[in-house]
Amino acid sequence: MIYPKKYDVIVVGGGHAGIEASLAAARLNCQTLLLTMNLDTIGLMSCNPAIGGLGKGQLVKEIDALGGEMAKAIDKTAIQFRRLNTKKGPAVQSSRAQADRENYRLYMKYVLENQPGLDIKQTLVNNLLLKDISSSKSNLAQRRVWGVETSIGEKFLSECVIITPGTFLEGIIHIGLRHFSGGRMGGFSSIQLARNLKDLGFRLGRFKTGTCPRLDGKSINFSSLACQEGDSQPIPFSFSTEEVGEQASLPCYITYTNPRTHQIIKDNLDRSPLYTGTIKATGVRYCPSIEDKVMKFPERRRHQIFLEPEGFRTSEFYPNGLSTSLPLDVQVKLLRSIKGLEKVEVMRPGYGIEHDYVDPTHLRSTLETKLVSYLYFAGQINGTTGYEEAAAQGLMAGINAALRVKREKPLVLNRAEAYIGVLIDDLVTRGTNEPYRMFTSRAEYRLLLREDNADIRLREKGYRVGLVSREEYEKVKEKERMVKLELDRLGSSKIFPTQEVNKKLIQLGTKSIRAPLSLRGLLRRPEVTYEKLKSLDKKNCTVEREIARQVEIQIMYDGYIERELQQVEKFKKMENLKIPLNFDFQSIASLSSEVKEKFSRIKPHSLGQASRISGITPAAISILMIHLKR
Ligand code: FAD
Repeated sequence: MIYPKKYDVIVVGGGHAGIEASLAAARLNCQTLLLTMNLDTIGLMSCNPAIGGLGKGQLVKEIDALGGEMAKAIDKTAIQFRRLNTKKGPAVQSSRAQADRENYRLYMKYVLENQPGLDIKQTLVNNLLLKDISSSKSNLAQRRVWGVETSIGEKFLSECVIITPGTFLEGIIHIGLRHFSGGRMGGFSSIQLARNLKDLGFRLGRFKTGTCPRLDGKSINFSSLACQEGDSQPIPFSFSTEEVGEQASLPCYITYTNPRTHQIIKDNLDRSPLYTGTIKATGVRYCPSIEDKVMKFPERRRHQIFLEPEGFRTSEFYPNGLSTSLPLDVQVKLLRSIKGLEKVEVMRPGYGIEHDYVDPTHLRSTLETKLVSYLYFAGQINGTTGYEEAAAQGLMAGINAALRVKREKPLVLNRAEAYIGVLIDDLVTRGTNEPYRMFTSRAEYRLLLREDNADIRLREKGYRVGLVSREEYEKVKEKERMVKLELDRLGSSKIFPTQEVNKKLIQLGTKSIRAPLSLRGLLRRPEVTYEKLKSLDKKNCTVEREIARQVEIQIMYDGYIERELQQVEKFKKMENLKIPLNFDFQSIASLSSEVKEKFSRIKPHSLGQASRISGITPAAISILMIHLKR
């Protein structure tokens, strides 16, 4: 049966990627259909109920600046906010907030249901519907997608399809030596869709991830544990949120494993799917299971565990740091060896999951596949792990599918513009042989790509595309104007070496002066902050916290920022040397066949991207450059 309504964009999957993709497409006036296996799990967090973290917080701010939903959702549903790395430089500071898992899910479902132009249906998508377009001159792929078919034989038609099936593709759940098919606990595996993608010629690989058991808070002895409160003055994630309100205030608790816990784990490795070889796929290196931590770091006598509440109306706790796929009886035993958990009851077991992903070098920078036109992949299917990575890709796929429908130029962010650019460029250029998560260290220009300036970097792009309102865009323009005004004012306001001034300087913990000095010059001193400056500032100008922060960073890191900007200029020269979509790399006789094969497979869009393909030498880039110039 063919469903009578024809859509512009169909999104498969109601996870973090699917949500952003379908909202973006619908908000860009495309008739959009979201198809997902279970309507009640839209926006469900499979693992820890938290958004942000190092490197990930930057992604969330960028999603927000471009007009996505994730930051607004967490601002409305957080139970605790924390700024991380605040003692380090601004490039590596990130925000993290714990969510009320249930409220987050319901918020997302509500937003989707109330989005004009978006239909939502519960169904299992099995196959893509394709058309042969080999006669068309405008497309390089031989086939294009024109809809999807579900497990009960319904056909939904559309111009673009975005696939975001997360951990569900051929998912297998492991608890001890038992394993069964599933996309996450309580959800089916997406078996036929994985097979269909394979049959269409996509290279599939296998990754593994895992999650912690969920504990009954009523059985935890909190009185023996250290309590960790959130920030007393929470800073919202979204640039549009004025303040986060009263709800953001549940504490976490800290406890540790101990040698007895470690011994229990070691004694039971013969029942661990990770150590008996049942799980063969590559796991997340930076988020190892507790059995991995114990075996890989035998010198460590303890590992820290954060007991995080799952929400206001549940007694479930998430023991962050205790991901495991050991059998349930071992999980209970090891948990009860930990301080505060002596009598703990497990409400849901921890488990590991293996799933298929598609080699992301099949994708262009727009996230459209090279094999099938009008088909986009986003989220964990591209080999990433994490809600933020998924949402960022979903947003970009949604935007680009909508722009494709409208026959407009795609939106591709480069590595100097956004972490989202780094994420997508890494995936489509180099692929990944382990679950990819974002870190600040992945960004070459991280002093420019800070959380605090994501709106300055990206609001305009969101506005031009049509996801950000004029009012929001004007707000950023005003912010930039205020920052400039304040920078100029501090540059022209001077202090003089009077007794009174020098006394104040000493009181502020900085050296006295012998010659006049501008306030801008004074703020360059590492020990002087904008706040401290106020007592010497005759005009005693009070700008908003956000403006003050920009001013402070721009003055304190002036030299470093300048250096990165110069590097960006060089980077841009290489990026601006574009390679036509149909460029024939095989025709360059002086390239080795290995290099020709790599170029033909990745199809880089610029000389810059070509230079980042692994194993490509500067000599090969020089040859390519000569041919491009011809
Ligand atoms: P998902 O959130 O997985 O959503 C996929 C969506 O697609 C679901 O709505 C599903 O119903 C739907 N779907 C799938 N197939 C079909 C189909 N054929 N038809 C219709 N609908 C379909 N991330 C971390 O950062 N750290 C961790 O420690 C971590 N641990 C994890 C542990 C487990 C057990 C799991 C399951 C995930 C874990 N993750 C972790 C990963 C994180 O959950 C994902 O990276 C993120 O949710 C991916 O988002 P997504 O939108 O790509 O897919």
